Amino acid sequence: MNPLNHLNFSGGPGALPESVLLQVQQSIIAVPEVGLSILGISHRSDWFASVVAELEGNIRELMGLPEDFHVLFLQGGATQQFSMIPMTLLRGKPHPAEYLHTGYWSGKALAEARREGAIRVLWSGEASGFRRLPGDEELAYSPDAPYLHYISNETVEGLQFHRVLGRDDVPRVCDMSSDFLSQPCEAERYSLIYAHAQKNIGPAGVTVVLVRDGVLKNAPADLPGFLDYRSHAQAHSIFNTPPVFAIYVVLLITRWLRNEIGGLSRMAEINRSKAGLMYRRLDDSHGFYRGRAETQDRSLMNVTFNLATPELEQRFLAAAQAAGFSGLSGHRSTGGIRASLYNGLTLSAVEQLTGFMEDFQRKAG
Ligand SMILES: *Cc1c(COP(=O)(O)O)cnc(C)c1O
Repeated sequence: MNPLNHLNFSGGPGALPESVLLQVQQSIIAVPEVGLSILGISHRSDWFASVVAELEGNIRELMGLPEDFHVLFLQGGATQQFSMIPMTLLRGKPHPAEYLHTGYWSGKALAEARREGAIRVLWSGEASGFRRLPGDEELAYSPDAPYLHYISNETVEGLQFHRVLGRDDVPRVCDMSSDFLSQPCEAERYSLIYAHAQKNIGPAGVTVVLVRDGVLKNAPADLPGFLDYRSHAQAHSIFNTPPVFAIYVVLLITRWLRNEIGGLSRMAEINRSKAGLMYRRLDDSHGFYRGRAETQDRSLMNVTFNLATPELEQRFLAAAQAAGFSGLSGHRSTGGIRASLYNGLTLSAVEQLTGFMEDFQRKAG
């Protein structure tokens, strides 16, 4: 493998498709239809307004989004949403918001919500090391909660819900940062969906927020302008200088999903094939590679596993890096190995990795 062209298995920023990277490369010099570098095009230009409009339309079409959703492109990452959501939906409410604590990122989200008001942790996997997700029988939702917050895919632990949670009479709020546009998601059942770009759909700098109009109507009146979804909705995501470059790359990704992949169902098939190859490699290794997540909650995006000892894991990571597989070390909070298989990573890259894993096991075993 060419050492100048490593395969990117990082948890984020993630791999992007080569055909998109080639267009991005061209756009740094000049966007063909404008004749200017993407880095120097005004966010007040007609062209950029058309980028925002096309991107919004693509997301609506790919996800089958109902009309009453606003599609916003914000800054501050998913982390800013951890605060904006309780400011909008929890402030002044008599009942606690409900949060699931299923891993590292949901822990961050609920800690920020606590600064704003009362929350109730419906279920926590902390004591059991975040190796599984709750079943429906473990979740006693309250009909009075102002909203339910959860994370569809826990990026660090490699846990993914394969169903929609909650009750239909309580607004669902979901962080989809690490599985956004990786598969169809029944968007119509949510009140607010958010996802930053840098895991699955582009570079860091932009966060997609899909929020129903009803949520905005009931928001407190005195929020700071920048932290009020209504400001961004009214300004069509150009409330202040937006990250033009990042938004353009996300547009190219949605074009790729529509035109080259053929939509989210097809994307989901490809993602299932990639994850299937990885999990088969773990399961066929007779315990050499030990999957971290319980089988029914395994993530299609982040495959987490351990080897027998931390020393063997270090040898594995060093050998993988030398062979051109980049970004495989687990999150600093968990250690171990994590192979992230975002949309832009090809089936062929996963085949190469599983081949390497088979080889490594044979030599070490
Ligand atoms: C990476 C990640 C975050 C953190 O996002 P920032 O954009 O860095 O604030 C939040 N939620 C999930 C699910 C993540 O994977």
